[in-house]
Amino acid sequence: MLTGVTLIYKELGTTGEKVSAIGIGTWKMGSDPEGDISSIRLALDSRVSLVDTAEMYGTEPIVGKAIAGRKGVFIATKVSPHHFRHDDVIRACDESIRKLGVSHIDLYQLHWPNSSIPISETMRAMEELKDSGRIRHIGVSNFSVKEFEEAQSALKGSRIVSNQVEYSVLVREPEGELLDYCARNGITLIAYSPLARGALRQKKYAKLAELLGDIGKEYEKSAEQVALNWLIGKKPVVAIPKSSSAEHTRDNVGAADFELGREDISRINDFLPQ
Ligand code: NAP
Repeated sequence: MLTGVTLIYKELGTTGEKVSAIGIGTWKMGSDPEGDISSIRLALDSRVSLVDTAEMYGTEPIVGKAIAGRKGVFIATKVSPHHFRHDDVIRACDESIRKLGVSHIDLYQLHWPNSSIPISETMRAMEELKDSGRIRHIGVSNFSVKEFEEAQSALKGSRIVSNQVEYSVLVREPEGELLDYCARNGITLIAYSPLARGALRQKKYAKLAELLGDIGKEYEKSAEQVALNWLIGKKPVVAIPKSSSAEHTRDNVGAADFELGREDISRINDFLPQ
C-alpha cells in the first residue's frame, strides 16, 4: 500500500458507480508477466480500481492472475472489430470472462468502429450480454461523436457509459468536440496513452517535459504526474497509464492526490504540441 496517497474516484457515465480516476492500462504487458502482475497488484493495493485490457492485447490472463481473489476491482475489456457479428460478440465475451477468471465484465467496450457490420447487430448482442449479467456496462472506444450517437441509437434500453480515446498533453484531438460532448452528456472519457506512450522522455518533446517538470516542482510531483493530473482534472476524464515497473506505478498512483492551479493548467493548455 502506498501511504499518503488520496485517490480521486469519478462517476462512470451516469451510473452512480465510481471508478478510480487513475486506472491501469495493460497493452504491451506480457514480456515479464510476474513483473506486470506485481505492478497491477501494487496499484490495486493503493486502491486503484479500474483495470483496462482487451481480447486483442492478449493480457486478459495476466489481469486474471493479478486480480484473483481481490474485491473492488473494476474490469474493463474490449471486443475486437472483427468480432462484431452477433454470435461472435457473445463468443468473444465468454472467452474474455474465461481468460479473466471472473463471473462478469464490468465494462465491455467496442474496441474500434467497424462500418462493415451493422452497429444494430453488434449492439443487440451487447444488450443481450447485459441482460444476461455477463457484462454490467457498455462502452465504446475510438468512436467519433457521430459514431457514438449511431451506436447509442442502436441500443433499446441501455446507455453507453464511456468512450475510450487517445488523449494526452501531446494528443489533443478530443478537445475538438468529444470532450465537451462527454461532459454535457454524462459520458466518461477514458484517456488512453495518457503519457503519450512514454514520449515525454523523448528529446523532441524536451520543452514540454521541461514545462511539466517546472510546474511539478511546485507540487513536488514529476512531469508525468503533472501530465496525468492535467487530464483527470477535466470533468469527464479518467486516465489509464500502463506501467510495468513499481517506480512508474507509484508515480502514476501519486498523480491523483493533488490539484493543479488554474494558472498552471493554462500554461499547459497554451503549450501547443508540435
Ligand atoms: P502510456 O500509458 O501513455 O505510456 C506507457 C509508457 O510510459 C510505458 O513505456 C511506460 O513504461 C511509461 N511510463 C508509465 N508510467 C510512467 C511514469 N510515471 N514515468 C515515466 N514513464 C512512465 O501508453 P499506452 O500503453 O499506449 O496507453 C495506456 C493504456 O491505454 C494501454 O495499456 C491500453 O490499456 C490503453 N490503450 C487503448 C487503446 C485503444 O485503442 N482503446 C490504444 C492504446 C492504448 P513502463 O511500462 O516501463 O513502466
